[in-house]
Amino acid sequence: MKTSVIGFPRVGALRELKFTTEKYFKKQITEEELQNTAKDLRKKHWGLLKTAGIDSIPCNDFSFYDGLLDTAYALGVIPKRYRALQASPLDTYFAMARGHQAADGDVKALAMKKWFNTNYHYIVPEFEDDARIAFDGSKVFSEWEEAKALGINAKPVFAGPYTFLKLARTVGNRDKASYVDELVAAYSTFLQEADKRGIDWVQFDEPCLVQDVTEADRACFLQMYKELLFRKGSVKVLLQTYFGDVRDVYKDLTALDVDGIGLDFIEGVQTADLVAKNGFPADKILFAGLVNGKNIWKNHYEKTLKTLSGLKAAGINTVLSTSCSLLHVPFTLANETKLSTDYTKYFAFAVEKLKELHELGGLADWKDYESSPEYQENKALFEADRKCRNPAVTERVAKIRKSDYERLPKRTERQALQKKELHLPLFPTTTIGSFPQTKEVKANRAAWKKGEITNEQYVKFNQDKIAECVKLQEEIGLDVLVHGEYERNDMVEYFGESLDGYLFTEKAWVQSYGTRCVKPPIIWGDVSRKNPITVSWSVYAQSLTDHPMKGMLTGPVTIFNWSFPREDIAPETSVTQIALAIRDEVLDLEKNGIRVIQIDEAALREKLPLRKSDWNSKYLDWAIPAFGLVHSGVKADTQIHTHMCYSEFTDIIPAIDQMDADVITFEASRSDLLILDALRENHFETEVGPGVYDIHSPRVPSVQEIVDALHKMLHKIEPDKLWVNPDCGLKTRGESETKASLQNLVQAAQIIREEN
Ligand code: GLN
Ligand code: ZN
Repeated sequence: MKTSVIGFPRVGALRELKFTTEKYFKKQITEEELQNTAKDLRKKHWGLLKTAGIDSIPCNDFSFYDGLLDTAYALGVIPKRYRALQASPLDTYFAMARGHQAADGDVKALAMKKWFNTNYHYIVPEFEDDARIAFDGSKVFSEWEEAKALGINAKPVFAGPYTFLKLARTVGNRDKASYVDELVAAYSTFLQEADKRGIDWVQFDEPCLVQDVTEADRACFLQMYKELLFRKGSVKVLLQTYFGDVRDVYKDLTALDVDGIGLDFIEGVQTADLVAKNGFPADKILFAGLVNGKNIWKNHYEKTLKTLSGLKAAGINTVLSTSCSLLHVPFTLANETKLSTDYTKYFAFAVEKLKELHELGGLADWKDYESSPEYQENKALFEADRKCRNPAVTERVAKIRKSDYERLPKRTERQALQKKELHLPLFPTTTIGSFPQTKEVKANRAAWKKGEITNEQYVKFNQDKIAECVKLQEEIGLDVLVHGEYERNDMVEYFGESLDGYLFTEKAWVQSYGTRCVKPPIIWGDVSRKNPITVSWSVYAQSLTDHPMKGMLTGPVTIFNWSFPREDIAPETSVTQIALAIRDEVLDLEKNGIRVIQIDEAALREKLPLRKSDWNSKYLDWAIPAFGLVHSGVKADTQIHTHMCYSEFTDIIPAIDQMDADVITFEASRSDLLILDALRENHFETEVGPGVYDIHSPRVPSVQEIVDALHKMLHKIEPDKLWVNPDCGLKTRGESETKASLQNLVQAAQIIREEN
């Protein structure tokens, strides 16, 4: 059986692309040097796929920042303000991705959003009324030529027109439908040129098809594809979906004149049924996504091979595929030197998944596969007891009462009390937690981890940083201070390290956005807290100031969502276990004099099911109460904050309010402020700090810009409910821009206070 990969991680086994790109940003290397690194990486990755025996190898899955942005660029969907910079193509592209501030121009980045239910982010393409849509094949075809030189007839991967249009936004007077013809024409040019070059297959990614598809959506999708396929020539088109099943359009898809259809059998809970009930056309190939592109556990061969033999028995021409791009799993287990094979034997990262694909492809063709050593070895693994259970945890979870989820007295009473006790001015200013993680901060942590410095040295360094940070915040004039999170590598990994039941990796990085990668820990077993985690740092920081020092925790849903989850128990069980562990930490902070505690739920929205009908029953019904379980034990005058890295919670505002936090800060600077209307309409009770500037860009916002943002907010929010803060943590920023930005923020808050 042939095998296919939807996409492969591009940052490199050791994040080579990240480091080189960042050097380019800092003007330490030339574009040519950057391009060479990129080329080397592509070559290496194709080599891996080829050696592993993968048949359908992707190209153009490489990106300097984001694949959807690449698509926008290739289609000419480049807003005028970026063209006006008259920069090189690469710099124009980077300006769209991350903004540009220099003598030659000052433009903000395009909006950035979470990619479906993952922690990857895409850049939102922006259609202007006079968008000059035209296909530019320079990237996709040169990458294809590169692969060809290595003896690979690669499959260019491109966001499909339906998904592209769905995810884009319009900024002028035209509606999205008005761009359909021009888009289809551009995609047609792509197919025709691909055909001319002798490209065999093209993969159009259409993950939007796994969402709820309305009648209008469906009509638009069909119109696009019918026209596009009519003119495609002899190039074969693979319509690739992932992250769910295509229940709304299965019949439409199978009736289209495409050559292959990629379906996700892992997250697509109805995929197998859809195929069984409706059949699959004999003239097309089914790319069956059975190797999980999102999780790191080994594939269960028995289950996969059963599905494959079912498809075979039904006479379906099948290619074995990943369930989505392997972008969402780490590169390879080969660099994990510290984890014992007792653990790693259960895992498969991207490179190891290639081997699984190849093995499974071979076994699927073999009648007597059960007798093969590969099969037997895999079977034994799934039958063995992993020894990951903890009876004390199970017992504690069983004893939770309904009242443990509810905080008293009610919020309005608490908010009034907190105003008195915490002596905060109108429009209190604060930050989201982390301060710049400079080279020195990272080096100190690395040295400590390697045992090169003593624990005392490590702590002393961080305490000095905290003291510096507190002093800086006092000088700047912020109201609620933070300790800076210098001890943290990552907001989830840091907590994972202090929780029983968690495993960590050394190099298992996954791209989050642009050059930013995260290293999600692995939930191996039942979770509990070993010791207090953050208390000593927060207490030290509080000892240096009379301002309230915000304790800083990560919430249970985020810890869970940003970890690789178990596949042997339900998500809600793990989340409840983590909630109890964080609850212990909250109570310890309070006991030690911390009066404001922020519990970040940066990833709460991320795993919201892609279909609305599943939102409550499959997610919110347990995710929201878990947050309540974390903070319900604190006193009325302890102020609980939460933070979310996005503002797209318009549709779940009541659920967010039910988390019962006293304050929420969230991203608002890179999206429009429509959320504020919705908060008002829903009588949102939680106090709010919609971020007043974008921390994902090094740009320093002016005082006037922040004042303007606050004015807009004050049209919609009661003055006594509004907080002033950046839109996320500052750890990726430099020190000088951070100071300048925060000074402007405080000055803006003062101006607004005087006006009120
Ligand atoms: N407290 C975290 C920080 O400031 C929050 C990060 C996040 O929301 N992603 O870094
Ligand atoms: Zn954030």
